[in-house]
Amino acid sequence: MKNNKNLGTWLNEMSLTHPLVIAGPCSAESEEQVLKVAHQLKNTDATVLRAGIWKPRTRPGNFEGVGEIGLKWLKRAKDETGLLTATEVANPRHVELALKNDIDLLWIGARSTVSPFIVQEIAEALKGTDKIVLVKNPVNPDLALWLGAVERLHTSNIDKLGVIHRGFSTYEKTGYRNNPEWQIPIDLQNQFPDLPLILDPSHIAGRRAIIFDLCQTALDLNFDGLMIETHHDPDNAWSDAKQQITPETLDQLTTDLTIRKEEGDALEYLNKLANLRTQIDIIDHKLTEILGKRMKIADGIGALKKKNNVAILQNKRWNGILSKMILEGKEFDLSEEFILKIYKAIHQESINHQKRLYDE
Ligand code: PEP
Ligand code: MN
Repeated sequence: MKNNKNLGTWLNEMSLTHPLVIAGPCSAESEEQVLKVAHQLKNTDATVLRAGIWKPRTRPGNFEGVGEIGLKWLKRAKDETGLLTATEVANPRHVELALKNDIDLLWIGARSTVSPFIVQEIAEALKGTDKIVLVKNPVNPDLALWLGAVERLHTSNIDKLGVIHRGFSTYEKTGYRNNPEWQIPIDLQNQFPDLPLILDPSHIAGRRAIIFDLCQTALDLNFDGLMIETHHDPDNAWSDAKQQITPETLDQLTTDLTIRKEEGDALEYLNKLANLRTQIDIIDHKLTEILGKRMKIADGIGALKKKNNVAILQNKRWNGILSKMILEGKEFDLSEEFILKIYKAIHQESINHQKRLYDE
């Protein structure tokens, strides 16, 4: 797919004065719930009402969505509030029903984007549609797979395209439900600057507390919009209860976010600077996280040494680490002096950790 300036036209045509906001419940639960949330969103920055009708669940036995009837509720919400409507489609039957019920924006979920077979079937069912189609990143951190899905849709003559960043699965437990791996959407943006890029902080976070910071990071990285799970009674939501926020909180969140307004060269400079600074912040966060993990392993070694009555400091091992790291540092253009300083500090912190254990 070549970068095509027309890819983002649909978003420009909305003439919004702020990034696009898609909000609404993880799942449509009842007509009353959909209408309630829609009316509460009516006077916020939200332009599009989202609700999952068919819910892809990792494990069976969880709420799998209300199905076709929910599309009627969305239609009614659109008629009553003027909000556009959005839902996830995962097969040609979903596409057929969503189009029949005049859904304005269809998205392909993370569990579908992973499969070129499914994406191809959906692309064929959508052939030539003038609806907006957004592709969520696949669950695994694979940019080519994500772009491949966009290409399949583009080849099916779908012009109103965009992508949603919802984070990536990891086996390892982190502070996120799905790791943001910001470098992946940044690379995508560099390759396709005109393809609208939307953040779904809800599925990245998995919890309410960090949604704001994720949104601000995305705006600093020039994302074009946000898709945020919003429910009138989040704690009692039938799916993803921990990560949903109320329409009132959403309203406050969009008010508190900083959006750069400068124009021309100044804007370009500030955007580039913010982009680079955000990349630094992301790496610093990773550095601290990884140092914390290293110390935890050192604690494990300390406990083992204590049990076996072995001294904490073992010079041979330490000198081995240092020479290995000096060599590795050269590969990354890091001076010997710097590597020595950093590793001495790390080593000292490990010893302090282990000493604490011995003193217990
Ligand atoms: C959703 O948006 O409700 C959803 C199921 O998301 P994802 O495909 O990102 O898991
Ligand atoms: Mn959800």
